[in-house]
Amino acid sequence: MRGKLIVISGPSGVGKSTVVKAVMAQCETLQFSVSATTRPMRPGEVDGKNYYFVSRDTFQRLIDKDQLLEYAQYVGNYYGTPVEPLDEALAAGRDVLLDIEVQGALRVKSRRPDAILIFMLAPSFRDIETRLNGRGDTAPELIRERLERARWEYTQAVNYDYLVVNDNVDKAVSEILAILKAEKCKARERLHLLKEDN
Ligand code: 5GP
Repeated sequence: MRGKLIVISGPSGVGKSTVVKAVMAQCETLQFSVSATTRPMRPGEVDGKNYYFVSRDTFQRLIDKDQLLEYAQYVGNYYGTPVEPLDEALAAGRDVLLDIEVQGALRVKSRRPDAILIFMLAPSFRDIETRLNGRGDTAPELIRERLERARWEYTQAVNYDYLVVNDNVDKAVSEILAILKAEKCKARERLHLLKEDN
């Protein structure tokens, strides 16, 4: 049985990384798709674990060689999903989780219609503003840019399969795990059970 491709998006400030981390910790069989990016590494990040940190030239080569399932520009940097490790995992029956922004997610859906798209919302838009301002490590101009982007991303949420509100991390995590479980119970996933019964 092929693995499931799960895509999670949500604007900067909804607390997506915390939820994604917790989902990964609670679901050992899930594989995280490590993206390539041209953005500089942040303190605490590890090359090859959080991202593959690459130069603009290397990123362009990945595009030219068609090695990315999708890519997008986000607040001045490029981000893309390497296609080979993803396909290897899916073929081996492992589920793969992509934490990517909206443009990329919609591109994935158009190329892989069976991908499961989950959009994460903050309890209210004002919460996003508060969280971004509260981080204290982001320049006001960058905060403005991220908020503008967040507003646009919210308009795209209707194109997703599921909406999860992050008003509580444990609840958001359990909803995501429930979505994954339900997807695996779909009849089309289990037709082999019917055949074996006959
Ligand atoms: P950050 O720089 O904060 O790690 O990520 C910025 C945004 O880029 C986040 O919304 C994240 O989900 C998104 N992102 C990370 N990797 C990819 C990718 O491979 N493709 C796309 N389209 N977006 C990505």
